[in-house]
Amino acid sequence: MSEQLSLFEDPGERIEALRREIEHNSYLYYAKDAPAISDAAFDSLMRELRELEAAHPEFYDANSPTQRVGGYVGEQFSPVVHAERMYSIDDAMGIEELEAWIDRLQETLGRFVPLCCELKIDGSGIALTYENGRLMRASTRGDGVTGEDITANIRTIKDVPLRLRVGADALLADPEAAIELRGEAYMPKDSFDKLNAAAAANGKDGFANPRNAAAGSLRQKDAKVTAHRDLSTFIYATASNASFRLEGQWELLEWMREAGFHVNPDVRLCETREAVLEFCDEVARKRAVLPYDIDGVVVKVNEFAIQDAMGFTARAPRWAIAYKFPPEEKTTLLREITVQVGRTGALTPVAELEPVRVAGSTVSRATLHNEDEVHRKDVRVGDTVIVRKAGDVIPEVLGPVLSLRPAGAREWRMPSECPSCGSPVVREEGEAVFRCVSIDCPAQAHERLVHWASRAAMDIEGLGDEVVGRLLDAERVVDVADYYNLSEYDLAGLDMGRVNKEGEAIHLGSVVAAKILAELEASKERGFARVVFGLGIRHVGKTTAEAIAGAFPGIEELRRASEEDLAAVEGVGGIIAKSVYRFLRTPQNEQVIDRLLAAGVKMEIEQSAEQRPQTLSGLTFVLTGSLVQSGMTRTQAGDALKALGAKVSGSVSRKTSYVVAGEAAGSKYDKAVQLGVPVLDESAFLRILESGEPPAGE
Ligand code: NAD
Repeated sequence: MSEQLSLFEDPGERIEALRREIEHNSYLYYAKDAPAISDAAFDSLMRELRELEAAHPEFYDANSPTQRVGGYVGEQFSPVVHAERMYSIDDAMGIEELEAWIDRLQETLGRFVPLCCELKIDGSGIALTYENGRLMRASTRGDGVTGEDITANIRTIKDVPLRLRVGADALLADPEAAIELRGEAYMPKDSFDKLNAAAAANGKDGFANPRNAAAGSLRQKDAKVTAHRDLSTFIYATASNASFRLEGQWELLEWMREAGFHVNPDVRLCETREAVLEFCDEVARKRAVLPYDIDGVVVKVNEFAIQDAMGFTARAPRWAIAYKFPPEEKTTLLREITVQVGRTGALTPVAELEPVRVAGSTVSRATLHNEDEVHRKDVRVGDTVIVRKAGDVIPEVLGPVLSLRPAGAREWRMPSECPSCGSPVVREEGEAVFRCVSIDCPAQAHERLVHWASRAAMDIEGLGDEVVGRLLDAERVVDVADYYNLSEYDLAGLDMGRVNKEGEAIHLGSVVAAKILAELEASKERGFARVVFGLGIRHVGKTTAEAIAGAFPGIEELRRASEEDLAAVEGVGGIIAKSVYRFLRTPQNEQVIDRLLAAGVKMEIEQSAEQRPQTLSGLTFVLTGSLVQSGMTRTQAGDALKALGAKVSGSVSRKTSYVVAGEAAGSKYDKAVQLGVPVLDESAFLRILESGEPPAGE
């Protein structure tokens, strides 16, 4: 067990800490309508607690949050004791868990039973009591046993019928008896945006999300306030199916529609498991365009008789499951912070995480950018951290869950020596980045070699991380010019450091070797701009390389250029000019360029710059912060995106596809996080420019 994990050796302590953290967040969420962490992060903590409790039954506690319906009964409302308890629903995180649930159900019942699939509306649960067809009382879910009387507030919601439609009582078991219907009060996304904009205009804090806005609006002392909040409802259940002469959920939904309730149209009665999975898939795809928030799909056994036979656990029905969309945030353990040395010698701290599945892929590492960032986020080795990964965007550590910090968690410092070559590291004035400035640093050599061969540079297929590492180990290459001296013998016989089933060493082999040689040959004609980019000059990204190559007929003219000449090139500022100038006058680099020329690598004027394929058309980007890695201005960055067909906008809205956040990103970053717009860091942004492709999965 690693040193970090041993910090949590005592499961009892961890269980206690998790319970406290969950209770605190539940209070903020249910009582204050102001959550401090995302639902996904909350669910992740809850899941860890559930798993620990299952593994250590000796810590069972009936008061644990896992055993209860989360909720709160405020004092400003009269309490309502529910005639029938209001339950929560167990979660299936991801399709595999949903399938497993269906499998178990089928096994228990001996056959597949029709399942009623509905949207899981992300609002606030309500109960409505009707007597003789009239609305008598409305309450919140509260803690499931007792709710709050919010009748006056519910009466202001226009789609709640105050009186059932004529004829609705025909299917009631006893038309004289009270019936209770249940559903969700929600706030449409548009209304939420308006409400928050109005709050901001008055200098007030808005709500964290439409769910909290709905819950907060329902629990207003003055019903007139609720009336102005534009709430709606979807009704989907009854407290007691014995109140109806109906077979099951599907028929109940039909009855509710006829009786005048607002029933969600996206429901499906599924006769096969494939149909259930297909429904979930369809819903996931249209989630973003629905005018209200949903957080999953509720799958219910349709037939009431089977529901009754299966019953409930302490907190949820056994006959229903809530499939939740793959969460974009999870909590996990920060095992270690390692340092990666880039090709320009930049030292980047990297979070080494306990692998965790986020948004459909496993995340085990995430960049922490630089030392300041590590301190700003206050993440320490041993922390439980929140990791975010939206869709295809690169994973990010948002920050620690402070109350779960173990006593031994240590603050992190950048090492004073390069982890690759042991040379002292330096931090230049005004820079956030520490660098290893040793010319002989093997980590930098490795990165430079890989960069030269990369798709956006010389595009030499076959010379990826692994092969380059092996070539370096075998001392076949030291710098990029050495590539062009490789023989078929060098490559084919390259020991890959692995063995086959017979225990024999695996070599690269002659087929791959021949391909790489052909690729190397072809790379000689890739053009001047790619060479300038491929050399890996600090601050020279792809676009800058293109600008430089466009301004000089060839390498000889470029080598003769003064710093001023360089700075005069459109898109090249003083810092870049200095960097290029210095690079070209460093003897080792001069030598490499001479050897590349001697090998036949062409370094003359580009043919007319062709238009790049418009791979980003339809996407809108917003740029914020400064792009220190490439040294590009925001205008240059914007132009580069536009060259690929993207639109670039100055402000963040729900229509924004991505926000590119450089160093010291400001309010646009916050806005993006608030609206859930994916945020890309500079590396991800540069990758888009290099590959010309929209963000791909990590
Ligand atoms: P839940 O909201 O995930 O699921 C149960 C509820 O779903 C039901 O009570 C019902 O109100 C609702 N629902 C919506 N559509 C439905 C449908 N078609 N059929 C049946 N029910 C439907 O579970 P929960 O226990 O009410 O609350 C937990 C939720 O609250 C989680 O999503 C959790 O992340 C969030 N939470 C977040 C924080 C935080 O700090 N961010 C704190 C506490 C709770």
